[in-house]
Amino acid sequence: MSHKSSAILPGAVIGVLGSGQLGRMFAIAARQMGYRVHTYSPETDTPTGQVADVEIAASYQDLDSVRKFAKKVSVVTFEFENVPAACVEAAAEFAPVRPGGAVLHTTQHRLREKTFLSQNGFPTTKFFPARNPDELRIAMNSIGCPAIIKTAGSGYDGKGQVKAHSLAEAEAAFRDAGQQEMIVEAVVDFELEFSVVAARGLDGSFAHWGVIENQHRHHILDLSLAPARMPNKIAARAVQITRSLVEELDLIGVLCIEFFLTRKQEILVNELAPRPHNSGHLTINASQTSQFEQQLRAVCGLPLGATELYSAAAMANLLGDLWKNGEPDWASACVSPDVKLHLYGKVEPRPGRKMGHLTALAKEAEEAARRVIEARERVGG
Ligand code: AMP
Repeated sequence: MSHKSSAILPGAVIGVLGSGQLGRMFAIAARQMGYRVHTYSPETDTPTGQVADVEIAASYQDLDSVRKFAKKVSVVTFEFENVPAACVEAAAEFAPVRPGGAVLHTTQHRLREKTFLSQNGFPTTKFFPARNPDELRIAMNSIGCPAIIKTAGSGYDGKGQVKAHSLAEAEAAFRDAGQQEMIVEAVVDFELEFSVVAARGLDGSFAHWGVIENQHRHHILDLSLAPARMPNKIAARAVQITRSLVEELDLIGVLCIEFFLTRKQEILVNELAPRPHNSGHLTINASQTSQFEQQLRAVCGLPLGATELYSAAAMANLLGDLWKNGEPDWASACVSPDVKLHLYGKVEPRPGRKMGHLTALAKEAEEAARRVIEARERVGG
C-alpha cells in the first residue's frame, strides 16, 4: 500500500483528547515533525496545552464543542482513555479517531477488558464480576481470600482498588465504592511486573521496544528498567502476545500491556492502555523512535520508525511528594551529564502526582537504574 495516498502529512493538525503529560510529549514529537496540535480537555494551562498550538477548555460532555474541535483537525487521538463514548462518536463524525472507539470501549472498563482477554485466549488471573452484592459473594467464594477488588470503570494507579481478607472487607469495599460495578481478582504471586509497549500502523505493521521491567510504590509506577531482567524465551512470548492482541483489537496507534511474571514463570496480562505509557517514557532517550513519535506515525498513516534501544536504560518518576521541602534542586539532577530531566509543567505538586521523570542510559539496566535513583535522591535533598 502506498503511504502517500492515505497519509496525514506534516503541516496537518492533530487533535488530542486529554491534556496531561502523555499529550505533552506527543505534542512535542508532533511539532518536531512539523505538525500542529490542538488539545481538548476541561482544564487550562495544561501540560499539553503549554506546548500545543491551540488549547480548548471544554467538558467531554459538551458535544457541540467536541464537534467544533474535530472539524478543525485531520485526525483525533487521545492521551486519556476515560473519555465518554459519546464524545468519541461526536469527534468521529468529522475526523478519524485512532485508536478507534471500540478499542476505547473495551479498555476503559476492567470487566470488559478482562472478559475480552479471556474470551480471546489471552492469559489473565482468575476473575469474576461483582455488579451486585450477590455476585460479590459468589466471586469471593470462588476466589477465596485474600482477593483484589477493583472498580470496573475509571481506575488507575491503584485507585479504587482494595485487597480484601474476608467477605466482610469485600462488602465494605463494595459499599465504599458506591455499589458500582466491580471486578474481583485472584491475587497474583508475581516475581516481577513488566510491560510491552507496541505500535500498529494503518497498514498493519507492528513495532515494539521489547520488555520493560516495572517497580511500583504505593501502586504507582516508581521505576522502569529496559530490557526487563527475564529469560529471552519469556520476553519473546510476551511480545508475541502483544502482537496478537493489537491485531485482535485492530489497533491503530500505540498500546501498552502490563504483565505479571509469576513465580511459576507464567505470564499473565494485568492491564491494557491504548496509548503511550509511563513505562515507555525511556524510549524518548533510549530509542531512535520514541513511543510518542510512533503514536504520531501510526495515527497519521506513516511508516513506523525503528525501535531498537541504543543501550539499556532506566526511568524514575518524579512525584509531587518530592516537593515536600519546597522546589526540588533541579541543577543537581543535571550533575550527572548523562541523566536526562523531563518535567511536565504542572504547577501544583500534590503527593502521588506525576510531575516529571529522569532517564539514564548505561550498559546494564541495573547501572542505569542506579544513576536515576541517585539523581532523584540528590534532587529531593
Ligand atoms: P492496576 O491498577 O490493575 O494496574 O493495579 C496496580 C498495581 O496493583 C499493579 O501494578 C500490581 O502491583 C497490583 N495488582 C493489581 N492487580 C493485582 C493482582 N490481581 N494480584 C497482585 N497484584 C495486583
